Amino acid sequence: MFINGLVMVKGRRDNYKLKGLRLHMVKHLMHLGIDDVKVLQAMLEIPRHYFVESGFEEWAYKDQAFPIASDQTISRPYTVALQTSLLKLTGSEKVLEIGTGSGYQASILSLLTQKIYTIERHDTLFKQSHKLFQQLELFNIRNYHGDGYKGLPKRAPFDRIIVTAGAQEVPGALVDQLAPSGWMVIPVQSIDKQEMLVVEKKQRGTTQVTQYGECEFVPFLEGKVGRLEHQ
Ligand code: SAH
Repeated sequence: MFINGLVMVKGRRDNYKLKGLRLHMVKHLMHLGIDDVKVLQAMLEIPRHYFVESGFEEWAYKDQAFPIASDQTISRPYTVALQTSLLKLTGSEKVLEIGTGSGYQASILSLLTQKIYTIERHDTLFKQSHKLFQQLELFNIRNYHGDGYKGLPKRAPFDRIIVTAGAQEVPGALVDQLAPSGWMVIPVQSIDKQEMLVVEKKQRGTTQVTQYGECEFVPFLEGKVGRLEHQ
């Protein structure tokens, strides 16, 4: 529940110190060249510290990745801002995220468009993020426990797809599930580094790939971990 810009979540709280750190984080992102006002506003609004373990609130506002459960990480704020900006959301798009992780990226997306589908392979992270989406009343997010390599054929096509784990290649199933003229933002491993790519689906199923610099993500792995639920 958002009250005067403060989100109330049982057991967690936002305060002026953390809001100040959040503003500082957003100014830093502007300094690094992020200029999409709606993305910056969303990152100012969502309390990033709710997505890290309690006791580590201040770490949430440093521009770095941070450990979460299941040996995974919440992406660094700059990466979240860059990937979100590359999606160029206008408010009407249907978006698929692969790699829910903490749920932070999905929460930012939920303020920027109508409908978000997100898949996580770790059952623990799936359950934790599901609870947080309910507490934050982000009811336009549907989250799934499953293997993101396969996408979500029953909900396809998607106007945008965002992959938040480092892939070895662009999965064909995800390209298939893009709507015509839709695009996917995906970090892909080249010989010695990961690169952020935008893969746009053109007419007759061809794709156009644009590179957006180096990045660093935990690996995109096939298969799911833990029990399969809520599919
Ligand atoms: N978007 C997340 C970042 C999480 S890190 C956030 O905002 O916190 C990447 C996540 O991708 C990890 O949680 C990892 O478990 C998940 N992942 C990796 N391979 C996957 C796959 N094949 N399907 C679904 N999730 C996957």
